[in-house]
Amino acid sequence: MKEYDYLIVGAGLYGATFAYEATKRGKRVLVIDRRDHIAGNIYTRQEDDINVHVYGAHIFHTSDKRIWDYMNQFAEFNNYINSPVAVYGDELYNLPFNMNTFSKMWNIKTPAEAQAKIAEQIADLNITEPKNLEEQALSLVGRDVYEKLIKGYTQKQWGRPCDQLPAFIIKRLPLRFTYDNNYFNDRFQGIPMGGYTQIVEKMLSGCDVVLEQDYFDMVGGVENAPESFEGTLSDGSKVSWKKLIFTGQIDEYYNSCYGYLEYRSVRFETEKLEMENYQGNAVVNYTAANVPYTRIIEHKHFEFGKQPTTIISREYSSEWQPGVEPYYPVNNEKNNAVYQEYASRAASEKGVIFGGRLGQYKYYDMDKVVAAALDAVSVEFS
Ligand code: UDP
Repeated sequence: MKEYDYLIVGAGLYGATFAYEATKRGKRVLVIDRRDHIAGNIYTRQEDDINVHVYGAHIFHTSDKRIWDYMNQFAEFNNYINSPVAVYGDELYNLPFNMNTFSKMWNIKTPAEAQAKIAEQIADLNITEPKNLEEQALSLVGRDVYEKLIKGYTQKQWGRPCDQLPAFIIKRLPLRFTYDNNYFNDRFQGIPMGGYTQIVEKMLSGCDVVLEQDYFDMVGGVENAPESFEGTLSDGSKVSWKKLIFTGQIDEYYNSCYGYLEYRSVRFETEKLEMENYQGNAVVNYTAANVPYTRIIEHKHFEFGKQPTTIISREYSSEWQPGVEPYYPVNNEKNNAVYQEYASRAASEKGVIFGGRLGQYKYYDMDKVVAAALDAVSVEFS
């Protein structure tokens, strides 16, 4: 029996950050993952000298200097600034919603004109406290921008009408009355030169890693998941641990005892094209409801690539179901209430910490994942 201090389920950013900090403190750590590679959804794979963001575009951004410095230990970041464009029929607009967007939409020039236009478009709605994404979007940007750039995209991404989605989702995007196409307001932003996988590789360098290993198989079935402190790996070897860090779906861990949590999944159709430059930008959103995909990513532009060929991924959203990858938690009232039941049960357990998007059922950005893992580390080792 090989004895570990920590078993970490999931080799993504949360698990890897915890693993790095624990091994730094002399702890024995085993990390397992169901997939055949490390790095979770930030995994990048090199193809034709291009780093492909296999599970969707990941742009690192943060206002927290501590987190920026932390990440820079593991890779050098370039000066990429995310500035997506949105295609609606034959019209093209800059994102996030800023003076470039408004000027194109309404043929106006000044912030005062843009603000007047928005006010005029929502005057009859009398929204004081936006109750959902639709009301929030309308009150921020008016009817035209909502109809052309938000409504169709959001319904495709979430598979639910905008009035049944929480307002906070749209507040992730900046709204500015300046001519500034930077998608984020954060002080620090960039893409790790050479991709994300190397970061996780370095984080995991001091611990044992077993891939294609399912936690529930290891403990002899999902019904044994809680309170298990030993298990058998697929190669037959036995291991034990004192504490579990679980970054999979919290509802799966508890065998869905309080009901299912809903997730959105994403499917990518990735294609290599024999041309240098397909769309001139890393991210192009297709905001009309009648285009089946939400966006096209052209990976080379994240690193200003000059390769003779290019690789693009069309992104399609769907409802999660067992057997496909869960990506986004659907944080509406119903799911949040179910999650609270799991979270209170989890809080009473001493032997397990739940982390990451799936473990905490939270629409996390990467910097917040790292911060949450570091917070857990400081509690654990205080
Ligand atoms: N959104 C939109 N139109 C766009 C881009 C985003 O309406 O062209 C809305 C949509 O509701 C989406 C949310 O803004 O879910 C957050 O977008 P973000 O780019 O942050 O999503 P992520 O990159 O995490 O998928």
